[in-house]
Amino acid sequence: MRRIRSIHSSRLHSNAIPEKIVNRFSAMLRYLTVPVTAFQQNCSIVWCDATHRAAIIDPGGDLDTLLGKTQRLGLALEQIWLTHAHIDHAGGAGELAERLQLPITGPHPGDQFWIDGLPQQSAMFGFPPARPFTPTRWLHDGETVQIGNETLHVRHCPGHTPGHVVFHAPQIDRAFVGDVLFAGSIGRTDFPQGNHQQLLDSITQRLWPMGDQTVFIPGHGPESSFGRERRSNPYVGGT
Ligand SMILES: [Zn+2]
Ligand SMILES: [Zn+2]
Repeated sequence: MRRIRSIHSSRLHSNAIPEKIVNRFSAMLRYLTVPVTAFQQNCSIVWCDATHRAAIIDPGGDLDTLLGKTQRLGLALEQIWLTHAHIDHAGGAGELAERLQLPITGPHPGDQFWIDGLPQQSAMFGFPPARPFTPTRWLHDGETVQIGNETLHVRHCPGHTPGHVVFHAPQIDRAFVGDVLFAGSIGRTDFPQGNHQQLLDSITQRLWPMGDQTVFIPGHGPESSFGRERRSNPYVGGT
């Protein structure tokens, strides 16, 4: 497992997020996180509970499982949102878009070369062949995405990949951060165009301002809060 896990983070995570539906506050935004692929990537189905319109963040694979979940929840899946274009996050996006005629939103254009390299990524890591795609809409820092009546804010957080974005839902104090930050770790930066200092800057300048109370859903492993990571994360603790 070490070989395939090591694409994401500086440290290994043994405990994945238990599947759960989160419904806090009075906002009508809900989500269900489903680990997919051999990398146990945390794909999240997010939806507006007033309209039952859903978006899926990082459908890296296991599409039938994901579609089964959305169907059982009674949701209309309308959009694909991507944090970055590593195979376990974006590997199923092209096929899902084609199957259901869905638009793909994100990541930031800095990840174009990772999208172009999806076939090589799938071969290298033993994934099913990934279908190439062109995002319907690239994302940039400060933009928003909308599903039903709910709006999420986009922050560009380069470092792990140059085009990595995160999705912030302040109405439920949640952030979907992909491979930027993990409980007790941070994303790897030894890939082409990875940059350790840039990743630290993304975390401290673009994640921390969302507030210590913000719970984040990382690309792998369990949820945590920014406040907890600021206290105890060995890479960004004390920042
Ligand atoms: Zn990942
Ligand atoms: Zn990644």
